[in-house]
Amino acid sequence: MFKKNLQTLESILPELRANGIKHIINGQHVESEGGASFENFSPVDGASLGHVVSGQAEDIDKAAWAAHAAFPAWRDMHHKDRRDMLHAIADEVEKRAEEIAVLESYDTGQPIRFMKKAAIRGAANFRFFADRVIDAKNGLSTPDMAHVNYTIRQPIGPVGIITPWNTPFMLSTWKIAPALAAGCTVVHKPAELSPVTANRLAECAHAAGLPAGVWNVVHGLGESAGKALTEHVAIRAVAFIGETTTGSLIMKQGAPTLKRVHLELGGKNPVIVFEDADLDRALDAAIFMKYSLNGERCTSSSRLLLHRSIYDEFLARLTERVSKIRVGNPLDPETEVGPLIHRSHQEKVLSYAGIGQEEGARLMTGGTKVKGQEDHPYVTPTLMADADPSMRLAQEEIFGPFLTVIPFDTEEEAVEKANSVKYGLTAYIWTKDVGRAHRVAQAVESGMVWVNSQNVRHLPTPFGGVKYSGIGRDGGDYSFDFYMETKNISIALGDHPIPKLGND
Ligand code: NAD
Repeated sequence: MFKKNLQTLESILPELRANGIKHIINGQHVESEGGASFENFSPVDGASLGHVVSGQAEDIDKAAWAAHAAFPAWRDMHHKDRRDMLHAIADEVEKRAEEIAVLESYDTGQPIRFMKKAAIRGAANFRFFADRVIDAKNGLSTPDMAHVNYTIRQPIGPVGIITPWNTPFMLSTWKIAPALAAGCTVVHKPAELSPVTANRLAECAHAAGLPAGVWNVVHGLGESAGKALTEHVAIRAVAFIGETTTGSLIMKQGAPTLKRVHLELGGKNPVIVFEDADLDRALDAAIFMKYSLNGERCTSSSRLLLHRSIYDEFLARLTERVSKIRVGNPLDPETEVGPLIHRSHQEKVLSYAGIGQEEGARLMTGGTKVKGQEDHPYVTPTLMADADPSMRLAQEEIFGPFLTVIPFDTEEEAVEKANSVKYGLTAYIWTKDVGRAHRVAQAVESGMVWVNSQNVRHLPTPFGGVKYSGIGRDGGDYSFDFYMETKNISIALGDHPIPKLGND
C-alpha cells in the first residue's frame, strides 16, 4: 500500500508543480489580479507542491460578485435538481477518493490511515445534506384566532467559508455542503498551509455540472484574502473554522457590514476517567482521541483527568502505549502519527514540554524531534503527567500529539477542573455509574459530551462549542438555521379590527 500511495503521488505531482494552484472564480481557474503567489511545501519531506496564487481584495471582489450573480438561479433551482446536483458532487468525490486522500496526506502530514476516509466522509456530508434539500425551506405554523402564521426559510445569499489547515478537505465539505443545500452560493478561502485539496473539491463540483459562480475558491493569506472576504458587502454570512483569536478578528472585521458569523474555534477538551470505568476501553479512547490525526484536531481530548485511585496504574499503561506509537511517513499505512503541519507549529508544540517541566509537570515520554527527521516537523508523541489546572500546558491549546494528565479525588473536583479553561468544545466521560454520567455530562461546560465513547459523529446532531470554543451549531437542521433566514408570513382570516386614524 505504501508503494502504491507513493506511485499515486508521483503520478500527480508533476502536473501540480507545473500548473500550481489557481483561484476558481466563476468556473474558471484564474491567476491573482496582482500576480502574487507563494510556494507550498509538504511537511513530509519539505518538497515543493508548486505555487499557490495569493489572493488580494480585488480577487475576493471578483469572486464575491460572481457568487452574487449566481445566487438567484441557484436559489430558485428546483429543489430536486439541487438535491441531484449534490449527489452528483458526492459521486465525483468518491471517484477521486484515492487521489484526494494521498494529496491531503502529503499536503498536511496527516496519516493516510485516517485520510483514506476523509474523501469518503466528505462525500457522505454531501449526500446527507442533499437528502435534506427538500425540507430545508420548511418552517412552523403558528396560527392565532385572526391569522394564519407560517414561517419559511430562505437562503441568506452568498456566504464566505474560511477553513483551517487541519483535515481541510473534510472540514470544507462540512461547511460547503449545507450552504449549497440551503441555496446559498459560496466563496471559499482555504488555509494557506494546506490549499491543495480545496481545488480538487471544487473541481469535483464543476465536473458534476455545478453552474459557474455558485462555488468560488480564492486562495491566499488570512490577513489579505481572508480579511477581504469577511469585509465584502456582497457576502451575507461567514462560516469560520480556526483559532479563537482569529474568530474574534472575524467578528470585528464583519461588524461594519453586519455579517452573520458562525465560529468553530479552539478547544482544550477533557477526558474524565472515573475509577469504575471500563479502563481498557477508556485507555484506548484517551490515546485515540489525542494521538490520531497528529493531535491536530479540535475535538481531541488534550487533558486527561484521572481519578487518583487508578492514577499510577493507568498512567503506566498509557506511557507504555504512547511511547510505542509509530511516527513516520504519513503515506505509509503503518504510520500512526505523521509530521506536524509546519516547522513553526513543531516549535510551538515542543516548547510546551519545556514549559510544562518548568511549571512542575512530569515528562513521561516524547517531547523531542524525531531522530533522522530533524529537518522536518516530526515530533515524538508526548505525555506529561502530574499537571495542575493552573499550568499553561493545562490551559492553552497545544494542537499536537501531546497529552496532559491531571489527577482528581472527587466528582466535584473533576467537574471543577474540567471547567477550569476558557474553552468548551467537547468533553469525554468514562464511568459505569449512570447517575454520575448524567450529572457530570450536564455540569461540564462544553457544546458536546460523549459518555463511554470516543468522538463518533452522527450528522443530524448539533456540533459546536461554548465559551471561547465558538458560536453557533452545525449539523442537520442546525446548519440550515445559519445559512437561511426565517421569514414569518401572516395572513388575516377575516376582518380583524384595524384602528382608524384620521377619521371624522
Ligand atoms: P487560523 O485561525 O490561523 O486560520 C484559519 C483560517 O483563517 C485560515 O484560512 C486563515 O488564512 C484564515 N485567517 C487568518 N486570519 C484571518 C483574518 N484576519 N480574517 C479572515 N481569515 C483569516 O487557524 P489554523 O491554525 O488554520 O487552524 C487551527 C485552529 O483551528 C485550532 O485552534 C483548532 O482548534 C481550530 N479548529 C476548530 C474546529 C472546530 O470545529 N471547533 C475544527 C478544526 C480546527
